[in-house]
Amino acid sequence: MPDIEFQCPSCGRKMIVEAAGAGSQVNCPDCGKSLTVPLNFPPSSEPARRHDVFISYAAADKPVADAACATLESRKIRCWIAPRDVVPGARRSWTPSSRAA
Ligand SMILES: [Zn+2]
Repeated sequence: MPDIEFQCPSCGRKMIVEAAGAGSQVNCPDCGKSLTVPLNFPPSSEPARRHDVFISYAAADKPVADAACATLESRKIRCWIAPRDVVPGARRSWTPSSRAA
């Protein structure tokens, strides 16, 4: 199950709580306020979608693309990035980047 991301209403600190912790009480690590973990996911989370961001890049930009991917994923934004997420035999959503525009 995906984790639950929510914000402290007091100080705005973002927190990630395991889905199993929905409805439980936690203390904000920044301001110490007692909070109830929400049961629902934020509206931006579409459960059917496997990735939030598709990263495409030229070979020379790979270090930049990798850094962007790591930054996004540290914020719980799932990225699709080649070659990591290219699964052999599952090419349905993959089109060659060399295709003429
Ligand atoms: Zn707080």
